[in-house]
Amino acid sequence: MSINGHKVINIMDKIADAMEENKLYLTELDAAIGDGDHGLNMSKGFQAVKEKLKEDEETNIGEILKKTGMTLVSNVGGASGPLYGTAFMKAGMEVNGKEEINIADFERMLKAALDGIKLRGKAERNDKTMIDAIEPALNAVSNAIRQELSPKDVLKAAADAANEGVAFTKEIVARKGRASYLGERSIGHQDPGATSSALIFDIIYKEL
Ligand SMILES: [Mg+2]
Repeated sequence: MSINGHKVINIMDKIADAMEENKLYLTELDAAIGDGDHGLNMSKGFQAVKEKLKEDEETNIGEILKKTGMTLVSNVGGASGPLYGTAFMKAGMEVNGKEEINIADFERMLKAALDGIKLRGKAERNDKTMIDAIEPALNAVSNAIRQELSPKDVLKAAADAANEGVAFTKEIVARKGRASYLGERSIGHQDPGATSSALIFDIIYKEL
């Protein structure tokens, strides 16, 4: 499997559609433990990405991801903008100059994105953040590649692990962001950022 720039742009479009479809859902999740703007922010940010990349003939995948990240930083409010923006920019730096990427590239991009998010957000796994979806997904990708699974199965493992990570965020206390003010009362609620991250893994799996 190798993916070109056109396909990457197509995936950004589908992510934008998914964020629009899940706008209310993400907003409700955020309203329970945060300030209720996550759905609106993500939808607005990815619509801007879709608009930015429309009719873009760029073939350098690193450049496409950089544009995506920069657009998210300037269009997504709250903590999510810088975090998602960093993730896409770091992933892009890993593959700058490449016109095609494969599953091994995907693993490196994901690792770079996760490291960027951790550094930027000063968060770790089990803090009840997007990291609780992304880190299990990266681990699943690494394991699946080591087991020589097909790229399709690697991406399925990533999406499944991300969704399991989202479910796990219901069981833990928030230690980052506005949700952390709730302390124990954040238990029972799933993290909106982890949820939007898992949605992205679902789209990548479905579209590839
Ligand atoms: Mg919020």
